Amino acid sequence: MDFIDLKAQQKRIKKQLDANIQKVLAHGQYIMGPEVAKLEEKLASYVGARHAIGCASGTDALMMALMALGVGPGDAVFTSTFTFFATAEVIVLLGATPVFVDIDAATFNIDPRKLDLAVTALKERDSSIYPIPACLRRDGAPDEPLTPKVILPVDLFGLPADYDEIFPIASKHGLWVVEDAAQSFGAEYKGKKTCVFGSVSCTSFFPAKPLGCYGDGGMCFTDDDNLAAIMRSLRVHGQGSDKYENVRIGINGRLDTLQAAILLAKFDIFPKEIELRRHVAARYTSLLASRDFPVAPHVPEGVKSAWAQYSVLAKDAAHRAALQKQLMDHGIPTAIYYPKPLHLQSALAGLGYRAGDFPVSEDISRRIFSLPMHPYLKPSVQARIIKIGTEPYLYP
Ligand SMILES: *Cc1c(COP(=O)(O)O)cnc(C)c1O
Repeated sequence: MDFIDLKAQQKRIKKQLDANIQKVLAHGQYIMGPEVAKLEEKLASYVGARHAIGCASGTDALMMALMALGVGPGDAVFTSTFTFFATAEVIVLLGATPVFVDIDAATFNIDPRKLDLAVTALKERDSSIYPIPACLRRDGAPDEPLTPKVILPVDLFGLPADYDEIFPIASKHGLWVVEDAAQSFGAEYKGKKTCVFGSVSCTSFFPAKPLGCYGDGGMCFTDDDNLAAIMRSLRVHGQGSDKYENVRIGINGRLDTLQAAILLAKFDIFPKEIELRRHVAARYTSLLASRDFPVAPHVPEGVKSAWAQYSVLAKDAAHRAALQKQLMDHGIPTAIYYPKPLHLQSALAGLGYRAGDFPVSEDISRRIFSLPMHPYLKPSVQARIIKIGTEPYLYP
């Protein structure tokens, strides 16, 4: 059994895929060919954004968004500690400082109440209000205080963050919002598609994401004409009106024409696939409803997940290990997203966070695991997964 079955999808779109790829081979415009603009137009209209800017990965999308907002040394970017490493990595690459915030125990997304505390703690340099990086504490190194600049919420596992709670905090403190929608393309929050909640919103086309290509790819979305123009320039080495005129420092961040052609074929069936994902998730949830463990994911009112992952909670680390082994012994793969919150990663040790700073994320990281999830998972297979994954007599 595959954790994500990409072959079932490929079978359904093989003809269109082959035709689209052949078209690129025939016209030969491998860099910024017509498929890139066509995809940008389709996806912008799907999410309801004015501009879409295709780029080389979700990581580059985040990087370009922060660069366009002028994020750099001396700036603080508030984000979740329970996310993929790239979310914080780009902040550090730009010389800015990630300021972590714990998650809500039910949604696994940034906890707005704690976000407000984190911004206040940073402004006051007072870690008794909320944990902040060591260099920002009054008792820490005598660095210049940082400027709070951006809130970077993550729509984890496909579930949109709580934007109605986040926006008032952003305006109260004068912060930009950049949405990390790498996992949530196709999700909805109160009637709107994701990828429109940030001044810039970023998604990824990594193969395992809801809309994945056959390699790396990503996209930035914005309604702001000026930010769009800056990002279009950033993705081609900061080019000006001419290819050999450089007006800013940028990156080689383009989306390959071939990947755009593949995504165009995949996008044809994407809205249908999102529906199928919702059926798969609903079946898992109803199969789990009569049991105490593992705990099914919670979806708040008015929100529709894109179900990048179906992540459940075991009682504790030992229980999780037992459940995963039991499933593996029956050929059912599972995965842990994420075993270690970012504030405990050695690459970010310089921030000076400690174990215990973000107790919800630390607890969830010990108990969470994800079940096989893709649009073509059959009800009978799901029933078997839940049966094996909940057989009590094998528990420790
Ligand atoms: C996948 C992912 C990224 C990075 O996307 P890539 O396309 O792999 O560079 C960033 N943030 C989150 C939350 C992700 O899941």
